[in-house]
Amino acid sequence: MAGLAEERYVVEAFLSRFPFLKEIREYVASLNLRLEDFAAADDLVKTAVTKVEDALSKGPRAITSPDLSSEVEILSHPLAMALVAMLDSSLAKRRFATYEAERYASMIKNIREGQIQVIQYVLSKVLGMKIRTDNPPHEFWIHFSDYLKVSVNLNEPRFKLVNRTVDGGYVGVSRPEAITFIKNGLERLFYERLEAMGRLEPPDFLKPHVERLQKILESLNTSSKISYARLGPEMWPPCMNAIRTRLLAGEPVSHFANFTLAAFMLKIGISVDEVVEAYSKRGDFDPRIARYQVEHIAGLKGSRTKYSVPRCSTMQAHGLCVEEGRLCGGVRTPMQFYRRRAKVGGGSGGDEGGRAESHGS
Ligand code: SF4
Repeated sequence: MAGLAEERYVVEAFLSRFPFLKEIREYVASLNLRLEDFAAADDLVKTAVTKVEDALSKGPRAITSPDLSSEVEILSHPLAMALVAMLDSSLAKRRFATYEAERYASMIKNIREGQIQVIQYVLSKVLGMKIRTDNPPHEFWIHFSDYLKVSVNLNEPRFKLVNRTVDGGYVGVSRPEAITFIKNGLERLFYERLEAMGRLEPPDFLKPHVERLQKILESLNTSSKISYARLGPEMWPPCMNAIRTRLLAGEPVSHFANFTLAAFMLKIGISVDEVVEAYSKRGDFDPRIARYQVEHIAGLKGSRTKYSVPRCSTMQAHGLCVEEGRLCGGVRTPMQFYRRRAKVGGGSGGDEGGRAESHGS
C-alpha cells in the first residue's frame, strides 16, 4: 500500500506543474489575480515574455525544458496566454499553442515514474477522451470517436482506422502514440482557449513587451509573402493547393504533406528561399531546420538525391488526394496535372514524378 501512496504522490507532484488542469485553473482563479498584480513580479513577466518570444521566433525545436518551479510554471502560462491574446493574431495563437503543447508533451515523455498514470489522466480528464487501459498488449485503448478527432491530421497510413486494432469500439494505442495524441489535443485546447479569450488590451507595464512581440510577429508576416513563379497556386493540382492553403492558415500539416509540397514547389521552379518562406507559418517553424530539409529534398544536401513529387496513388494512400481525383482528368501524378495546365497556360513544369533521382555530386 505504501507503494501505491508513493506512486499517487509522484503523479500528483508532477501534475501540479500542469497549469491547464481544471484543479490548477481553479487554484489560480481562487487567487483572484488581475493582470496588474503581475506588475511587480519581474521573474514571472520575464518567463512569460520569453515563452511567447520563443514560440514566435523559434518554435518548439527551441524548447530546452528549463526546470521551472511549480509556481512559475503555473502562473507564467496564463500570463503568456494573455500576452498572446494582446497580439490578436491567429498566427501567434497557433505558434504559441503548438509550442506549449510540444513543451508539455516533452515533459510527459521525460517522466520516469508514474508516466502511464499521467498519460491516462491527461487523455481522460484534460482532453475528455474515453479510454481503457485493461487490455494488453496495448497500453491504451481510445474510443474510436475520440481517436478519429486526434488522428485527423496524421496522414501516415498506420494511423488510419483500417490499419488499427479495434476492440469493442476502442482503438489500441502505444505509449508514444498516446503522447503524440496528447500533443495534438493540447494544441487544439490551447488554441481554442486563446480564441475564446478574444483580444486583450495590454496594461501599461506590458506595453513595451507587447510592442516588441508585435515586431517579431510582423517580421514573420513580411517574410512569408511568397511570389509564385510560373502557374499561380489556383492552377496547381488540387492536392497541392489544399496543402498550401492549410500551411498558410497556420493549420497543422503532416510531415509527408510538407515533404510533398516542398518537392512539388521545387519541381515547378520555386526557389529554396521561397519554399522555406512558405513554411514560416507552421507553428513549429525553425528557419534553420526548414532550410536544411528543403535543401535535402532539392538534392543540395546529404545524399544529393533530388526527390520527386509522389504519385497520385501514394497521395491517395496518405489521404491527401482531393475528391478522389475527380477534378484531375485521370492523371497519374500531380506533375502530370501541372504540365497539362502549364501547356494550356503557356508555362512549363518539371518531369513526372514518383521516384527519387540521383543528383550527382
Ligand atoms: S488525382 Fe492526383 S493530382 Fe489530383 S488531387 Fe489527387 S493526388 Fe492530386
